[in-house]
Amino acid sequence: TTGLTIAHLPEGELRCEHIEKTVISLPDITRLLLKPLAISVDPYMRTRMQPSGYDYIERWKAGSTLSGWTMAEVVISSEPGFKQGDLVVGHLPMQELIAADGQHLIRVPAGSDPEAYLHPLGMTGFTAWVGMQLLGQPTAEDTVLVSAAAGAVGSIAAQLAQRQGANVIVTAGRTDKRDWLHRLGFKTVLNHRSPDYARQLNNAAPFGITLNFENIGGSAFTAAIDAMRPNGRLVLCGLVSQYQTRNPRKSPDNFAQLRQKKVAIHPFVVPDYLTHWNDFQRFMAPLVGQKNITWRLDKVSGGLDSVAPALIGLLNGDNIGKRVVEW
Ligand code: NDP
Repeated sequence: TTGLTIAHLPEGELRCEHIEKTVISLPDITRLLLKPLAISVDPYMRTRMQPSGYDYIERWKAGSTLSGWTMAEVVISSEPGFKQGDLVVGHLPMQELIAADGQHLIRVPAGSDPEAYLHPLGMTGFTAWVGMQLLGQPTAEDTVLVSAAAGAVGSIAAQLAQRQGANVIVTAGRTDKRDWLHRLGFKTVLNHRSPDYARQLNNAAPFGITLNFENIGGSAFTAAIDAMRPNGRLVLCGLVSQYQTRNPRKSPDNFAQLRQKKVAIHPFVVPDYLTHWNDFQRFMAPLVGQKNITWRLDKVSGGLDSVAPALIGLLNGDNIGKRVVEW
């Protein structure tokens, strides 16, 4: 079959030439043969291409096969519990055909919307739930800031805080994204790409941010730290603006304020929380089923050929909602 591999690692911005299509041999015997229908492209894919430094997830190098959160159809099965035509989701290699066993695969329950398993009931919904619900624990007393809130994780995280009655400030870098956030019911919608962002944030939160759900890093993070109230909480979800920079080690120059303000810092990565998966499903599936949470997919067609351009676009902020590549 064919699959996507790293041609050579990017230095600075990712380009299409860094990812190539190659022939990949499948084992002669497999318990499950899967055909992908949609795959998720995610910012952490770029961090897996950084050449050095510690990361919680194995890095890719030249020749590595790309993998990601995938929805696939079962083509052949000798695995109990899976039959031809079933839809499954899981972390899978990016290939036209995938040999798998049943381990770590989730069968999409009959009667549910399979697309929900690409986002609110998939990894990005899980990330939002772990970061906001488990760690952030917003209450009606909180002023919560969610950056990149028109993106996948941010849009769900912000709605979870809103459901708890918190005063939620959301940010997005483009007018149509901010319009969407207004339509979701958020009253304070700021532009984290504006040169004026720090002032806007201080005006929007005159008494300070008590819970910052950080998705982007860089100058927007610096502004958020400045705007935080003493004894606030910082949920460190991601720093997407730094994933393509050559010196991602640089910390915000007001880092010392986190100590002076005694901010409680909660860094997290979702693989550490997989034992909470069923709790997450019990929480989120009813919200999704009863349409009490709004979500949208940002679909790019074209299968494997579209993965590189779709990922590059995501890292530039093209997407509204969860970006996926369909066949
Ligand atoms: P998104 O759907 O939010 O897409 C990324 C968004 O980031 C873009 O749409 C863009 O929005 C914004 N962005 C991109 N580049 C920049 C930049 N230079 N400066 C400012 N904003 C930028 O992606 P996800 O929802 O998948 O991920 C959101 C965050 O969550 C990321 O930091 C990611 O790494 C993190 N994450 C963390 C996990 C964990 O385990 N801790 C798991 C999954 C995700 P805009 O146009 O509004 O600027």
